[in-house]
Amino acid sequence: MILVFLGAPGCGKGTIAKIFEEKLNFCHISTGDLIRNAISSNKELGEMLKQIISNGNLVSDEIVLKLLNEKLKDCSSNLILDGFPRNLLQAQKLDEMIKIDKVVYIDTPYDIIKERLVGRRTCENCGKVYNLDIYNSNTCSCGGKLVQREDDTPHIIEKRFKVYEKETMPLVQYYQNQGKLLKVESNSSSNDTFKNILNMLEVK
Ligand code: ADP
Ligand code: ZN
Repeated sequence: MILVFLGAPGCGKGTIAKIFEEKLNFCHISTGDLIRNAISSNKELGEMLKQIISNGNLVSDEIVLKLLNEKLKDCSSNLILDGFPRNLLQAQKLDEMIKIDKVVYIDTPYDIIKERLVGRRTCENCGKVYNLDIYNSNTCSCGGKLVQREDDTPHIIEKRFKVYEKETMPLVQYYQNQGKLLKVESNSSSNDTFKNILNMLEVK
């Protein structure tokens, strides 16, 4: 099954995709993670990418598609795309590349998103994501240090949300027209949302 997780920054798509990965062995591809990996492994390209994402803008379609294509080689049948596509052109390219089964649209109010992102901390070592509201420590369970992403500041969060509304929101209609859209509200825990999605997908 090939799924796309669609939703605003901070809607929880990455966290829920990780649950699919752990419990159901899905291959989870986050283009945000691919870009952050490219930043730490490639000096020249990295500096340019860092500028773009720390300002809350989108990385060029060409670069994201290249990173995605490389990563797709490692994945076979069960796949979740998290953070891709993020605009109409990417959605059209993706349709030429693979056949998507369903698009899970995680609808979350902006107030909740903002609060979550400001409190979000990521492990430098393993990438696990925490929220300060429920996890009151600077150390991950793996011993790694928890850090705040540079783009998780109130000003940049607002910018990312505007970019989302302009570039990514039209994809809701795009996939609705294809009859592939499943909408889920994400105001409960990630685990509950995971279960709701499974029910909607009719995965037993
Ligand atoms: P979030 O969903 O919390 O904003 P991500 O980790 O998905 O975080 O993305 C972080 C940043 O990486 C984005 O703000 C954007 O700059 C870049 N990015 C991720 N995916 C894409 C994409 N498909 N196209 C362009 N830029 C992307
Ligand atoms: Zn860790």
